[in-house]
Amino acid sequence: MIDNFRHKGLRKKLVSTIKSKGITNERVLDAIGQIPRHLFLDKAFEEWAYKDQAFPIGQGQTISQPYTVAYQTELINPQPQDKILEIGTGSGYQACVLALLSKKIYSIERQKILFEKTNKLLKSIGFERVRTLYGDGYLGAPRFAPFDKILITAGATRVPEKLLEQLKVGGNMVIPIGNGDDKTMTRITKTAEDEYKTERFGLFRFVPFKEGEVD
Ligand code: SAH
Repeated sequence: MIDNFRHKGLRKKLVSTIKSKGITNERVLDAIGQIPRHLFLDKAFEEWAYKDQAFPIGQGQTISQPYTVAYQTELINPQPQDKILEIGTGSGYQACVLALLSKKIYSIERQKILFEKTNKLLKSIGFERVRTLYGDGYLGAPRFAPFDKILITAGATRVPEKLLEQLKVGGNMVIPIGNGDDKTMTRITKTAEDEYKTERFGLFRFVPFKEGEVD
């Protein structure tokens, strides 16, 4: 796995691009600047890795656009002691960005093939702080709950009840939600048991948050 000066230079440019689009959190920008995104794409597509674009990763899924990763990360506002649940492991890129910012990351993927591929990759690049789980994200990860933060990286039409239950009081969940192709980035903060505050942000596109797992 090679990360050379050219990759580092391209990453610097990517960081200034997403900064110019409005990301201000220095810790988030720093994490984007550190993670070698080219390792999360097949080698043949390395050239695409540092463009601010989503890209296909197989199984009909995509690695999120770096700006979207930064935007969602900024909204959940990861703290060093946080235990975070990500729904939609995909390439594993977002999970690694979170792993630089917080103590423990759990990430669920419903596609068996992607789950296995990414699990292997994360081990090979030394991201033990990410625990990958195979299953249906609608159910969350009750074994490891409650979480300080929950981040959904697929486009939802409703808020999964089980995920709200698995959130700590004071914690927040960021979820792109809507009925059409454009999803409204939404942050739900659990202010007390059974009390929530909802904030809505910009529109984004995502692959769908589907119910159930697949082989
Ligand atoms: N965070 C990823 C983005 C992947 S795209 C990255 O950084 O690359 C969203 C992912 O969510 C896809 O891999 C898709 O298979 C997965 N997904 C969709 N519905 C899901 C569900 N119910 N449970 C778990 N994962 C799901």
